[in-house]
Amino acid sequence: MLIVGGGFAGVTAALELAKRCAGALPVHITLISDRNFFLFTPMLAEAATGAVEARHVVYPIRPLCGARGVEFGEMFVEAIDLARHKLVARHSRSSLRQEVQYDRLILALGARPNVAMVPGVAEHALTFKAAGDAVQIRNHVIDLFEAAALTEDPWTRRKLLTFVVVGAGHAGTELMAALEELTRGILIRHYPSLAADMVRLVLVGSAILPQTATNLAAYTKEQLLRRGIEIEASRAAKVSPEGLSLADGRLVPSQCVIWTAGNRVNEVVSNLALPKTRDGRLKVNEFFEVEGAPGVYALGDNAAQSDPHSKELYPATAQVALRQGRALAEQLVAELTGRTRRPFDFRLLGEMVPLSRRTAVADLRGLKLTGFPAWFLWKTVYMLKLPTLASRFRVVLDWTVELFFERDVSELRVDGEHAT
Ligand SMILES: Cc1cc2nc3c(=O)[nH]c(=O)nc-3n(C[C@H](O)[C@H](O)[C@H](O)COP(=O)(O)OP(=O)(O)OC[C@H]3O[C@@H](n4cnc5c(N)ncnc54)[C@H](O)[C@@H]3O)c2cc1C
Repeated sequence: MLIVGGGFAGVTAALELAKRCAGALPVHITLISDRNFFLFTPMLAEAATGAVEARHVVYPIRPLCGARGVEFGEMFVEAIDLARHKLVARHSRSSLRQEVQYDRLILALGARPNVAMVPGVAEHALTFKAAGDAVQIRNHVIDLFEAAALTEDPWTRRKLLTFVVVGAGHAGTELMAALEELTRGILIRHYPSLAADMVRLVLVGSAILPQTATNLAAYTKEQLLRRGIEIEASRAAKVSPEGLSLADGRLVPSQCVIWTAGNRVNEVVSNLALPKTRDGRLKVNEFFEVEGAPGVYALGDNAAQSDPHSKELYPATAQVALRQGRALAEQLVAELTGRTRRPFDFRLLGEMVPLSRRTAVADLRGLKLTGFPAWFLWKTVYMLKLPTLASRFRVVLDWTVELFFERDVSELRVDGEHAT
């Protein structure tokens, strides 16, 4: 059994399968991923703004796999040959290349930021999806504060202190709220020559949290506006070293444009000549079987699967990916032991969006919460969802330290000749 992709879906499927097969079925499970860690994306905004340490939102895959007898290879999958049941993968940062044969293949390669939507994004914008993105965003924001403190030219300073997030969905909104707290609430205290009103924050999106219940989206918008965040409804047209150009011709001068406005399915998956939805996800049935490819299954952000409750496609979220990984493992074991497979039937739990400054919005199957109760619930639920006891301790410790001490505002460069 070969699983590709070490995210929510892939890791869960591998571990659950190993647990169910242990001592009962002679199944060899291999997991391949281009990183040897698993990233807990719901806390990426906290990592990007220093509320938790970036290392505390990533978890090494090897100990998790080793404990369950799953073989792991840190390799980047380049191509899949469905006809010959093999794939080509290489070590992420070297030329070591291998052909890997499989009898069954589970695709869980996730999605990537769609940087091709608008010219200049790939070259001039930061993305917000990977662990490295969080480190880069935090360093860049702090670096811009350092630069702004060195100039007295108001135009240059304004540009240096303008932070733009494109995309007002879950990730973009959460990040903008966290950036507001970091810049105006924390960093500003350490730069006596700068004032909070010199910081400009712009969130670009035609609607705030478009997939969220309207009253929660309205609450969120009001919160952002009250904190002085500008909401820009015009479409992003181009990113350049000058900043973000909008479709109506205006320019938002900035050296920090963060792109969260869309993802596209991993190209290894979208390159497969198989039936897909418009967004590139592979069509799968209630047993995760990919249409037109026997023995191949797709999970998480790679799968377009119908939700039997809403009759729409399941959204691309960790909540779904995790349940799908577990369900596929159960179905495969049922099949291998001659039992009847149970079709996947998960009712979405709802949504929670943290808005920093002890505020959030939550919609849990119709139970709608805002403000501190929602924020407290978010902290509790996501802390419990962290994969290990050690990881929970680390994150809770970060949160506790922040209650009593200043947040760390050092810029730790790891690139180039001046690396420290
Ligand atoms: C900032 C942010 C916040 C989010 N917050 C939430 C939230 O609060 N709640 C929620 O439910 N969802 C949230 N999501 C969505 C959630 O992260 C995804 O839906 C979820 O990660 C999908 O799981 P997956 O296993 O399909 O893909 P992923 O978790 O993305 O895993 C894919 C894995 O494949 C690896 N990979 C990619 N390409 C290759 C390759 N060619 N070869 C080998 N390995 C490869 C990647 O490194 C990664 O390990 C958030 C997403 C982001 C970006």
